[in-house]
Amino acid sequence: MSKAIGIDLGTTNSVAGLKKLETRIIPNAEGDLLTPSVVALRKIKSLSGEKEEFVVGKPARQWLAQDPGNTIVSIKRLMGRHFQDPDVQRLIKAGRFAYTVQPLSTGSAQSVAVLLQGTEYTPEQISTKIIEKIKKDCEADLQEEIGYAVVTVPAYFNDKQTHMTRLAAARAGLKVQRLLPEPTAAAISFGVDNLAPGEARTILVFDLGGGTYDLSILTISDGQFIEQGKGGDMWMGGDDIDDLIQQYVFQQTEQTEQIDSLPALIDRLPKEKKNRLFSDLKEKVEAAKIQLSTREKTVIEVLGLLQDEAGDLVDIEVELTRARFEALLRPFADRMITLIDQVLQETHFESDLIDQVVMVGGSASIPLFIRTVTERFGAEKVLVHPRPMLAIAEGAAIMAHRLSDTYECPACGQTVERTADLCLACRFDLASNLTEHGVVDIVHTTSHDYFLELEAGEPFLLVPQHTPLPFATRATFRLVDSRQKLAHFKFFNRVGEAQESIGDLWLSFDIDELNEPGKVQPESVILDFVLDENNIITVSAVLKNYPEVQVGRTLSRGNVDEQLFVNLEQEIDRLNRGDYPYYVALEFLQRSVSIAAAINQVMDPDTGEANETALQRVRFMQEVAEQLVESRETPTANVYYVESFLLEYGEFIAPKERKILEQKLEVFRVANAQAAMPDILRARDLSLDALDEYPALGVLQDLDNAIDVLAREQPAQLPRLEKYRSSLRDALLDDDRETFVRLSKEIYPEMSRILTEYDKKKLHIRKEIRT
Ligand code: ADP
Ligand code: MG
Repeated sequence: MSKAIGIDLGTTNSVAGLKKLETRIIPNAEGDLLTPSVVALRKIKSLSGEKEEFVVGKPARQWLAQDPGNTIVSIKRLMGRHFQDPDVQRLIKAGRFAYTVQPLSTGSAQSVAVLLQGTEYTPEQISTKIIEKIKKDCEADLQEEIGYAVVTVPAYFNDKQTHMTRLAAARAGLKVQRLLPEPTAAAISFGVDNLAPGEARTILVFDLGGGTYDLSILTISDGQFIEQGKGGDMWMGGDDIDDLIQQYVFQQTEQTEQIDSLPALIDRLPKEKKNRLFSDLKEKVEAAKIQLSTREKTVIEVLGLLQDEAGDLVDIEVELTRARFEALLRPFADRMITLIDQVLQETHFESDLIDQVVMVGGSASIPLFIRTVTERFGAEKVLVHPRPMLAIAEGAAIMAHRLSDTYECPACGQTVERTADLCLACRFDLASNLTEHGVVDIVHTTSHDYFLELEAGEPFLLVPQHTPLPFATRATFRLVDSRQKLAHFKFFNRVGEAQESIGDLWLSFDIDELNEPGKVQPESVILDFVLDENNIITVSAVLKNYPEVQVGRTLSRGNVDEQLFVNLEQEIDRLNRGDYPYYVALEFLQRSVSIAAAINQVMDPDTGEANETALQRVRFMQEVAEQLVESRETPTANVYYVESFLLEYGEFIAPKERKILEQKLEVFRVANAQAAMPDILRARDLSLDALDEYPALGVLQDLDNAIDVLAREQPAQLPRLEKYRSSLRDALLDDDRETFVRLSKEIYPEMSRILTEYDKKKLHIRKEIRT
């Protein structure tokens, strides 16, 4: 097996580590341990014309000043989100993106894109660039290919976000052994240095980085890391602190320079100068903040870049003392503690039960924060990780090592099995030199509740928050209607107040088409919901008593098939609200059954990509179905009509003519299943016109239909109509035209009344389930 590394894919910085005997952070091509999570697409003029090139990490961060519109920072904040996400909208409105963020033009409403030199990139594509650089730089350092990685994600990430992270790593050519929550990774790195084998501890991991604030409570015992709960705020970090300082700098400068509004002044600068000023300022502000972690005061200076209305230079030169800084940070620190209290409360942990608080992340170095946490828990419990910005990558590296089946003996380099105690080649004592102090396994828990939507929007809790993974559950749900042909399972998370879809499963069935002896009406469906330790959700449903009617899939979150399902759902809802005749609705229902089945085939289970042919097919099917509804055409009912005509009355037709009719029906059937609307209707007309040659049989067929309706609706009236039918048949067999015409005239009004009434009935397409 090729090498496995641990990657901390951070909002601000990314870090990679590898564990052999010791855990080592691998420097990047620039020689740094931290790789800024920044991606730029530079346009460079050369002799052969302009060319574009991607740069990642430090050079991209340096490019930020020149071209912030084409430099993507903090992409992690957009991972797995969609454009309309309130948080995304809030950040856009607050002007937090210097680059363009827009809905992905080719994606579903569930997606978002950023622009680089006018071209769209998804957040996962940008993350792929970062991971590609990390992989490449590590390979250069280690002189070896890297095939596997443990990648960390915030404990806060929902399914879609983790899914997209996994996708990004896969596209960068790495097999993800495990997506590890960042606090768990930090705990592993802490445990290795601080826990004796067998020692049990409950720790609170405090991770304050550039963009996120993650809290996690874990118990470590007998080498098991059990996540007890998590909290924090995905939108709180060092960037916000920088903003606070920047605001302060603006206020101070406005005061000393007697300017109404510094932002307004800056706004009037030419774009290039404005960019320079902002990035200069951001850099200085961040440097000042970092200095204040070790010094008592600092000065933020931006000189010679700004002019007032009169053209005089306005210099920014603001002194910031630690005390002033801490006053600015107070509300931030208070919220930090509130969120800690919240997670303790939610998980029913008293502070006493916390043995240790481990502080990691770049912003955990801020003295006020260390003091505040210390005041809350007591000095003996609080530990600032010695390498706060590397801890997570170290934990990931340890995990990657654990998950590898084999590794190289640190003494002689021969491949040894993960479980080996001794190197067979050099007799190196692996067991005692490589103990991870009993990192045996990590028990992941669900970060959210998982729900299923029942009839009338009622939520059904499938998996509660904090359930240990892997987890599987099975539940049986009833169909709401005995003639139902669709069962729609809508899965969702609740994130705060918002209901976030995590995908759909549609089971479609037409019992009339099943050759099952002793068919019974289906009444219920059995659902299996499986969550693996990576939070990958597989769902499957089977129709009770009909094991052949089943479907299963991995929820694909925002993929194109989800959008197809949403279309189908919306069309059905629209039809149910509208005023459509029975057979028109039935037409759509029948087509929905095939459409749902076809959508289930769109994603290739092996590659996870959409099959383009299958996708086009579904789009075509949806289009035809909508056109038929709009023009109120019902070819499927017409097919049934011709089929039963031939079945019941074929014997009355001369064999040669019957053969022709059968051929026309076959053409019609095929067209109805595959062709565009005009071709379907043409084939239909050819069949129906041919039946018009047999008006007498048509009367009998209509009477049959009326009898079918009566049998369902008013069985008491049946005998009368049945009597007519047998007399009419007799007259036909006897070739007694006169009697036939008389009898059909007699029964015609009643027969046509029954049929028209039935036609006017409404069909409500049901797809709901209930308990
Ligand atoms: P992320 O997890 O978001 O990638 P990191 O853990 O790498 O973030 O932390 C980056 C953040 O930490 C930045 O906002 C940076 O300014 C801040 N930071 C780094 N070192 C210090 C320090 N010594 N004091 C205060 N803040 C720091
Ligand atoms: Mg981090």
